[in-house]
Amino acid sequence: MTELTQSVQNILKEITQISQQNQRDINEITLVAVSKTKPIEAIVKAYEAGLRHFGENRAEELKKKAQTLAHLTDIKWHFIGHLQSRQSKPVAKYAHYFHAVDRVKIAERLSSQLDHVLPIFIEVNLSGEESKAGFDLKYWETSEEQRQVFLSAIQTIMSLKNIQIKGLMTMAAFEASESTIRNVFKRLKNLMIWLNTIFPHLQATDLSMGMSNDFHIAIEEGATYIRIGSAIFGER
Ligand SMILES: *Cc1c(COP(=O)(O)O)cnc(C)c1O
Repeated sequence: MTELTQSVQNILKEITQISQQNQRDINEITLVAVSKTKPIEAIVKAYEAGLRHFGENRAEELKKKAQTLAHLTDIKWHFIGHLQSRQSKPVAKYAHYFHAVDRVKIAERLSSQLDHVLPIFIEVNLSGEESKAGFDLKYWETSEEQRQVFLSAIQTIMSLKNIQIKGLMTMAAFEASESTIRNVFKRLKNLMIWLNTIFPHLQATDLSMGMSNDFHIAIEEGATYIRIGSAIFGER
């Protein structure tokens, strides 16, 4: 068994264990294997080990990999990174999910290019770190202004053709303590619940959160999509 096959099995086992310990239904959790920068052969190995969802963050790289692996028809491609408008075309064509809607404009752009429904996640920045993309909702619980800006963006995005808001996405600070990370994930879940009370027909109930270093916490706090790169494919 190769090292990669072993890491896939270890991760799947861990996800199963954490789910059981937290009364989470394993079928509610999608593992997105973040294959950015990794070669085609690594993706094929992970596929053979049973994975079907792969995450990329460069439009050209997504295009190349999706074309090369077009014969593996049940692969689902997730675009997980910040996307510039002028690079949106390959994403509209090849991505099955988009995790990083960080402004209205990119959703509008994708909408104008799509010929199928694209499930998307709204990326939010809860830590206020400037290096992080996403709608600034650092103070959403107390700031009426942050809430209003966000709701009006959601309202616009909701109305776009071929765009389906599946839920929210966030990244916790990389070097934060466990309690800080947990707090970010709890706040994302609360934001999701609140959003769905404002727009009851939206049904944007998914949570894309958790990476190699914090997916355990994310599952405990309700993640439905976890994005794991280095723990599967090794360091980049
Ligand atoms: C790279 C990346 C990941 C995976 O990170 P790892 O620490 O390698 O698991 C997850 N989400 C996003 C948005 C990323 O850019």
